[in-house]
Amino acid sequence: MKTINVYAAIIGGGAAGLMCACVAKKNNKDKRIVVIERDNRVGKKILVSGNSRCNLTNINTTIDNYHTDSYDGVNFLLENYPPQKIIDYFESIGLVCKSDSDGRVYPLSRQSTAVLSVLRNELKRRGVEEICDTNVVSVTKSGNSYKIKCDDKLIIAEKVVIATGGKNNYAQKVVTNTYCVAESLGHKVTALTPSLCAVKVDSKLIKSLKGIRAQGKVSAVIDGKKVKSECGEIQFSTDSLSGICVFNLSGLINKSKNAKIIVQLLPDYSFEEIKDMLYRRVKLTGSDNVQELFTGLFHKNIGIALLKDSKIDTSLSANKLSNSQINTLAKTINEWIFNAIKSNDFSGAQVTSGGIKTREVDPRTFESRINKNVYLCGEVLDVDGDCGGFNLQFAFSSGMCVGEQL
Ligand SMILES: Cc1cc2nc3c(=O)[nH]c(=O)nc-3n(C[C@H](O)[C@H](O)[C@H](O)COP(=O)(O)OP(=O)(O)OC[C@H]3O[C@@H](n4cnc5c(N)ncnc54)[C@H](O)[C@@H]3O)c2cc1C
Repeated sequence: MKTINVYAAIIGGGAAGLMCACVAKKNNKDKRIVVIERDNRVGKKILVSGNSRCNLTNINTTIDNYHTDSYDGVNFLLENYPPQKIIDYFESIGLVCKSDSDGRVYPLSRQSTAVLSVLRNELKRRGVEEICDTNVVSVTKSGNSYKIKCDDKLIIAEKVVIATGGKNNYAQKVVTNTYCVAESLGHKVTALTPSLCAVKVDSKLIKSLKGIRAQGKVSAVIDGKKVKSECGEIQFSTDSLSGICVFNLSGLINKSKNAKIIVQLLPDYSFEEIKDMLYRRVKLTGSDNVQELFTGLFHKNIGIALLKDSKIDTSLSANKLSNSQINTLAKTINEWIFNAIKSNDFSGAQVTSGGIKTREVDPRTFESRINKNVYLCGEVLDVDGDCGGFNLQFAFSSGMCVGEQL
């Protein structure tokens, strides 16, 4: 088997690994640094990110945008490697960035290829080698260095960076074990759940809403408690709810066996205001079909689904509605409840919630507390962020921090 000796081996050519390699080589000009990637090319997830526009960070990032087993490392990164530092770095290697009104930062060209290209150009300029089509099976300590066992070669390195990403391997639509490398060095993985994905719901009515988008508020109710709410565009599909606001609840929902999503189609109105509105609309609609109550307010199919969920005959005349039926309908509009189905399907998830315990790394250097000269960065760790550039911010900032340690 071929043996390669290097100073530092970065396992995983994603956002974290590529950033780490760029920064590490800057400080180690004469040392051999390699990025080992099992796919046929590096950075595939960067290319699909942000609908191929790559929302690379968010200038409004706060600790509240993250979910992790320990907040020390994320806090340290936000203080020392904030979004502006990531933007400045990208600008320094040729990427012009532009933020939108929500603070989401994209390349000016709105092309994810631009982000990957500037990183790869920098790697090339500095002389980092990409070793693709190379799957790392395990890493073992051998004296003062590490033996990195790949399918077809052995790489011996003084320093090892594990940047193997999460369980979701969206770009390839294949779910793979990206934790085995860290596990081979004694690290432990927390429970893994798909996050930033559509939420399947147990509803016979949802099919009739396929393709409809509505503005509103969604809340996750776990074991009877409202735990998180988000506003935005709610998208209905054959069996699920999606849209960024739903994505941001999905991690919590997929962790629970007893979760509901409450949809509020008129979040700015109180229950009493919705009831008053319904009485006014009943008066206006008169003897016309009850479905006309929603004309000018909601999509027609949403109106029908609301009536059905409120157990109201859809062929009734509006003025035949009883007070109790109006009350029920107002309740449904105010809080439309969908029972969520817990999902273990990572194929459609943007990120993995859970990962290698962050307590197993030093929060200021991301060096393993189990093995000296081994570092972990990016999504392989138990850190996931909301939708909006926060996950790439974590991947780039942790990669940059580790790169500076090498
Ligand atoms: C569709 C989609 C859209 C997204 N959009 C955004 C967005 O706009 N903004 C945002 O902030 N986040 C977004 N994300 C999330 C973000 O892309 C990830 O959190 C981030 O890319 C993680 O980077 P990483 O380097 O840690 O992991 P990855 O990008 O997953 O990289 C890990 C790499 O390691 C390689 N690897 C794994 N195991 C091995 C092994 N044993 N041997 C060799 N190589 C190995 C993998 O092939 C992979 O290339 C999106 C994700 C998806 C799927």
